[in-house]
Amino acid sequence: MTAKDRAIETLKLQRQRYLERLPSTVAYLGELALAWGRGHLDSERFDALKQGLHRIAGSAGIFGLEELGLEASRLEQAIRGGQLLDGANRHALVQDVLTLGERWLSSTEHLAAPVGTLDTPSQSIMPTIWLLTGAGASEQNLLRSLRQYGFTVKPLDGLQAAEVALVFPEPAPGVLILDAERVTLTEALSQKLSLAGVAVVFISLQDDFESRLEAARLGATAFFVRPLNVMQLVEKVDSLVGDQTETPYRILIVDDDEMLSLSYQQALLSAGMRAEIEPDPANLLRRLEDFRPDLLLLDIHMPGYSGIELAAALRYYDEWTGLPIIYLSAEANRERQLRALDRGGDDFITKPISEQYLVSVVRVRAERMRRLASLRACDGLTGLLNHVHIKEALAAECLRAKREETCFSVFMLDIDHFKQVNDTYGHARGDTVIRALAHLLKTRLRGTDRVGRYGGEEFFAILPSCRKEAAERQCNWLREAFAALEFEHDGETFACTLSAGITCSEDFEQLQADQFIECADQALYAAKDAGRNCVVGWHGSLPSRSEAGSA
Ligand code: GH3
Ligand code: MG
Ligand code: MG
Repeated sequence: MTAKDRAIETLKLQRQRYLERLPSTVAYLGELALAWGRGHLDSERFDALKQGLHRIAGSAGIFGLEELGLEASRLEQAIRGGQLLDGANRHALVQDVLTLGERWLSSTEHLAAPVGTLDTPSQSIMPTIWLLTGAGASEQNLLRSLRQYGFTVKPLDGLQAAEVALVFPEPAPGVLILDAERVTLTEALSQKLSLAGVAVVFISLQDDFESRLEAARLGATAFFVRPLNVMQLVEKVDSLVGDQTETPYRILIVDDDEMLSLSYQQALLSAGMRAEIEPDPANLLRRLEDFRPDLLLLDIHMPGYSGIELAAALRYYDEWTGLPIIYLSAEANRERQLRALDRGGDDFITKPISEQYLVSVVRVRAERMRRLASLRACDGLTGLLNHVHIKEALAAECLRAKREETCFSVFMLDIDHFKQVNDTYGHARGDTVIRALAHLLKTRLRGTDRVGRYGGEEFFAILPSCRKEAAERQCNWLREAFAALEFEHDGETFACTLSAGITCSEDFEQLQADQFIECADQALYAAKDAGRNCVVGWHGSLPSRSEAGSA
């Protein structure tokens, strides 16, 4: 086979994969568009809608679907300007997105996936890892291991390739792993990497101080010696890229003055934050639940409402006692300001407000809030939501699904025969396995999905806008990825499997959090009964095994 034939083969394969994924992608966008039309879409999912159309616009042409690409591009443009549309036009636009889906689904029935399914397994939210080896050197094992753990890895064939890639860093790298035996980093390149915010990890054959000194001189963040402990390397890389995936601060502005709100919003958006406006205090609670801001900017004088009373009322809710509230007001009297703070606000910004000051006050408060919230909400071993908080997230999702009339799925995962892992390889190695699974969950689920460590080696995930069939596919994909991971202990390698139970909001008339947990748990037990290493969907009272793995 010539190089050209191979290229054609690859393209064919890519086209086939693309076509397989397209119906579910388009159907998912249709669902988002519907929610948008009803005014129910939070900004994260609004972004998903725009980006989804944008991706189709950019990619469809490559695979011979020019018309679809053009249509997606038109819809993307229209939706971007959609804030200005009146009701009728907005409705027409939603219909267009929906028919884009229907037209496509009917013309490719042989490929059609269930309507309303999840987009393809998520785009990884982690930055790319560059793996720099000497020309011609193969690093297949390391490459495979890193990819198994959910990293996006781009192998670079020598120093020259790194120089070139740095000029067009697309997507931007987070970490460069350097095979220090075959490639010598130049000082110039090391400087460029540092400027681009790329952390460098050295892998050396020499376990001596001089090699470490050399790495330190070139600004390396970490140093590993061969033979490699892959899991340690993975954890290091994870900690290095983890910091950069911090999502933007979410700020809700409640002010009846539209022009002022827009100017605050602009200032915050320009500072890389996510900011939404709510002009009507009557909607405050609903907006908080939907948008889940890190911080609330609250006007004090609004028709029919006082910001001070609103803040005091919010503090009666356990859920909102910790939310930082900053009053926006023309009130300059320090004593009256203090009285207002006493009722539930955290800070005062006096109008007229300088944009710079607004941004810095908001940033300091939001950052502190995030840190505290993450300490409270996250499990120490895995960084996923803890038991209490994943249950809270489930309760919130139930409310949202009811309001927006959308569906969602959940799954409960449990590692098979985990006690044996602990008994055979020790508790510390067991922890490594738990962390590896947590890492897979973090990187392989969508940004809008929520995952928590429900118990010791048990995990619970919530997948919004996702039907059961899609959740099953996703879950099986995770199951296979987990089973493919190799763990090491004293030169011996071992693998683990997991079982999962799934249930979907469409299974129930009433959406109650406990019911989801109970039924997912029942389905999980059915999966264990069915021989483990499989995924079972809950169907009515009798769970049925929907897809088996190697078991
Ligand atoms: P099954 O396939 O039925 O799930 O079998 P299992 O052995 O996994 O089930 P079981 O629930 O009996 O055992 C779970 C074990 O997980 C028991 C406990 O010691 C261990 N475990 C719980 N939390 C942790 C942890 O944080 N770290 C480690 N290393 N082990 C843990
Ligand atoms: Mg178990
Ligand atoms: Mg268990």
